[in-house]
Amino acid sequence: MMRRKNDNKRYFTRMGTRKKVHAFVRVKPTDDFAHEMIKYGDDNKSIDIHIKKDLQKGVVNNKQTDWSFKLDGVLHNASQDLVYETVAKDVVAQALDGYNGTIMCYGQTGAGKTYTMTGTTENYKHRGILPRALQQVFRMIEERPTHAITVRVSYLEIYNESLFDLLSTLPCVGPSVTPMTIVENPQGVFIKGLSVHLTSQEEDAFSLLFEGETNRIIASHTMNKNSSRSHCIFTIYVEAHSRTLSDEKYITSKINLVDLAGSERLKKSGSEGRVLKEATYINKSLSFLEQAIIALGDQKRDHIPFRQCKLTHALKDSLGGNCNMVLLTNIYGEASQLEETLSSLRFASRMKLVTTEPAINEKYDAERMVKNLEKELALLKQELAIHDSLANRTLVNYDPMDEIQIAEINSQVRRYLEGTLDEIDIINLRQIQEVFNQFRVVLSQQEQEVELTLRRKYTLIDKNDFAAISAVQKAGLMDVDGHLVGEPDGQGFGLGVTPFSAKPGKKAKSKKMFKEQLRPSTPPPKPVAFEDFKNERGSEINRIFKENKSILNERRKRASETTQRINAIKREMDVTKEALNFQKSLREKQGEYENKGLMIIDEEEFLLILKLKDLKKQYRTEYQDLRDLKAEIQYCQHLVDQCRHRLLMEFDIWYNESFFIPEDIQVSLKPGGSIRPGMVPISRIMSLGEDDQDKFSQLQQTELPEGPDSFSFYNAKVKTEQKHNYLKTMMGFQQAHRK
Ligand code: ADP
Ligand code: MG
Repeated sequence: MMRRKNDNKRYFTRMGTRKKVHAFVRVKPTDDFAHEMIKYGDDNKSIDIHIKKDLQKGVVNNKQTDWSFKLDGVLHNASQDLVYETVAKDVVAQALDGYNGTIMCYGQTGAGKTYTMTGTTENYKHRGILPRALQQVFRMIEERPTHAITVRVSYLEIYNESLFDLLSTLPCVGPSVTPMTIVENPQGVFIKGLSVHLTSQEEDAFSLLFEGETNRIIASHTMNKNSSRSHCIFTIYVEAHSRTLSDEKYITSKINLVDLAGSERLKKSGSEGRVLKEATYINKSLSFLEQAIIALGDQKRDHIPFRQCKLTHALKDSLGGNCNMVLLTNIYGEASQLEETLSSLRFASRMKLVTTEPAINEKYDAERMVKNLEKELALLKQELAIHDSLANRTLVNYDPMDEIQIAEINSQVRRYLEGTLDEIDIINLRQIQEVFNQFRVVLSQQEQEVELTLRRKYTLIDKNDFAAISAVQKAGLMDVDGHLVGEPDGQGFGLGVTPFSAKPGKKAKSKKMFKEQLRPSTPPPKPVAFEDFKNERGSEINRIFKENKSILNERRKRASETTQRINAIKREMDVTKEALNFQKSLREKQGEYENKGLMIIDEEEFLLILKLKDLKKQYRTEYQDLRDLKAEIQYCQHLVDQCRHRLLMEFDIWYNESFFIPEDIQVSLKPGGSIRPGMVPISRIMSLGEDDQDKFSQLQQTELPEGPDSFSFYNAKVKTEQKHNYLKTMMGFQQAHRK
């Protein structure tokens, strides 16, 4: 939604209403608060920064002197209690309903991150978010007697891209042999080697927390690592099963409480060695964190760069996306720290724009599901027993059949097929299924037996094996009607295409019929015959076949061109998006101008938005074309397949007619002939039904642009159907002949 403002060429974008990452700011109390430079909005949701002209040179190089940051809340002079209520309470409450939650403290060293997260361990009143979250979890568990809820905790430290377990000193944790690694599986991300501790009560959880805090401090002395230079992630894992056993669903969730390393920029001079290394790692991981969160908020992005650093990888399933996320930025209120404060506030306002879509982590308890199904089954069996007794069917058994029962059914089926058993009584569904099953078994056995008998008596040659057939013919082993030469008693040669004349006993008569016709004494090999067929009777269908193939190829070519165009548009869209993001980040870095929910943007960004819109439109149009083309290609492919099929079938018929079936029989079988056992009246085939007419004209319009061609196409179709019926009739006739 954009509206053009004529006077100064600035434009407005209306803000959306989706759920956002919550961004709060906490200002560290000081006696030296810079009242002239830092002003809070009346709603406690905005901070305005003003730098006096004379100071400006020394503080920032930028010409800008005023910034306005809008957030979800500004906490100044706020108690630990109020901070928890505002920032953490809802996130923790929702974790018990299955939503992952992440609360992070961001800011320069000394601004109060650890104070906010852990608090002072000596003073209960000043305890931070961590102990309060544990308290809330256990309190809520007490309030939910309907659920069995387990709580586990872990405490991870990431220092210079290495992982440390802050709870590894506990007696229950064995010495870790291999270094910890971040592992992903379908359930989510976990850290292999990180100890996770079951805690059944608040007190245990606190002990774990203190243990971790102590280790953090000790490590900073013994390992010479500055605790403000590492990221610490305290995780509370919740798993809630309903105490109602029939409830198969259960929920899991994680609350990650993250105390990030100090975000301060390195001073240009003086840093070297360890400090430089630390700073490099921190700057990298914090900017990767920002990239990952922004990417998560962009619904069009499918790749999120989680693996760029340990921090984002470890938090993969707890950042943005489908979980509740809160960012608390700790800042100083003093003039001397203004540069870092500005940088922290910019980070906060960028995070605030990211949208998330929290979702419940629901799982199914397989064991409970099986138990419930077993119960259901027992109940249904009882129900069935009642029905049987009401219907006076007392001896029916519903259990799976054993081998003896199956053998009995097999014997019933055999007797039924032989005709010695009139019917098979239906008892129950299981028995019916077994009867069908045994029909299949008996049938396949009989097929094998028949083939075996045939093989013992004849040499079988595959009907489609042209080479074998012509070899046999060339060798003179076979005469016209498929008999092996020199077989005195007319024991037929079982060639697949052998017609009824091969039947023993009928030989004399059929031989005579063939002798009277003017045909080649040996049919040509099929490949040769096929070439003849394509030039003669099959010429029309062959032409249509080729034509369909060329239409198909043309459409394929067009689809490939359209795809190339789409890719080019997509590339241009990506470039435009990147430019737009750059403009946006410039705007956000400079602090935003807002006016009653309207955001002001400049001309360059506006033009980019227009361009992107136009590209999207082109993209949609081309995409639509491609979809239509693909549908057409599919249809054409189908036509080509059908044509090929018809071509081969017509050829088969032609081949049989030309070289095997006596002409007098062909005459009686043809439309108007006298013999049509079981055949659909020819008149029905010849006249077009109304539906067919419709289909025909549709075909003409869509698939075959040239009218006369589609007519022959249709002709071929009707002809094929006729042939099909004709073949069926032939077979019927053949059978009648045998009897
Ligand atoms: P960070 O973890 O960001 O480096 P700390 O939490 O260690 O900073 O804070 C530095 C010092 O300031 C600590 O002594 C801490 O007790 C104190 N401090 C920070 N914020 C507050 C606050 N809101 N109220 C009182 N003291 C605070
Ligand atoms: Mg700290």
